[in-house]
Amino acid sequence: MSIFTANLMDDKVVLVTGGGTGIGKGIAKLFGQHGAKVVIASRKQDVLDATAAELQAENIDCAGCVCDIRDYSSVEALIKFVLQRYGQLDVVVNNAAGNFPASVDQLSANGFRTVVDIDLNGTFNVTKAAFEHYLKANGGAVVNITAPFAGWGVAYQAHAAAAKAGIDSLTRSCAVEWQPLGIRVNAVAPGSVAATEGTARLSEALVGEGAQTLDCEAEDIANTVLFLASDAAKFISGEIIRVDSASGVDMLHMPVH
Ligand code: NAP
Repeated sequence: MSIFTANLMDDKVVLVTGGGTGIGKGIAKLFGQHGAKVVIASRKQDVLDATAAELQAENIDCAGCVCDIRDYSSVEALIKFVLQRYGQLDVVVNNAAGNFPASVDQLSANGFRTVVDIDLNGTFNVTKAAFEHYLKANGGAVVNITAPFAGWGVAYQAHAAAAKAGIDSLTRSCAVEWQPLGIRVNAVAPGSVAATEGTARLSEALVGEGAQTLDCEAEDIANTVLFLASDAAKFISGEIIRVDSASGVDMLHMPVH
């Protein structure tokens, strides 16, 4: 059940990076169920095809586009794909990310760089290309998916936390610079989301550490993203909303070794 009107996103086009799986898929579906045309983007054609077919079976206008968000020319091709197909781009959801559990002493320089490259540089690339090719002239909304632990320390996630802290900073700076252009930029910080690969990997790493997770559903995150992208949030920008039922706060007390 949705509290939003079914036509909330009629005539809107949304791009969801990493929209083929997990939280991104939940976001793509919820926007589609509220009338948006949806483009999902990631590196794996077969995953995109399967999700696009699933959404199309629900009468959602959805297209997949292969893109590596680390590569600016690939991102520009993605934005051109969206504009050629739909002629507009109203909402950008920067959801794609890479992650793996590793303590700092296990983490290689390459592993750290890779996560920062996907999460932070990828978010910049998509936001910048969308801005240059469409948002600058037309306004719109950007919603970045971050993580609660970006605001404090966390075990096994130093790389992701550093990247997400960068995303939080980028969110606020873009919001300030682009307010005069009618572009709102916000972020959503999910807690542990049930049935996602990220949660499965991290839970495995934390076995024996006595850590407990309080899982929410992808839909809980998607509802907040939909709200932030809608006119109901037209005066909200530069905000980072935690959707974790305060569970992330427990991480402050999580033992490292
Ligand atoms: P997921 O299912 O692993 O999704 C990540 C997506 O990113 C995949 O669809 C992947 O597709 C795509 N991706 C990875 N590298 C890419 C690249 N270089 N270029 C383009 N796409 C790329 O993860 P999730 O758990 O749903 O997480 C979604 C978001 O929520 C992430 O930003 C994550 O940090 C955040 N988050 C998740 C949790 C959680 O509990 N799961 C908690 C806090 C925050 P391909 O492999 O096809 O490229």
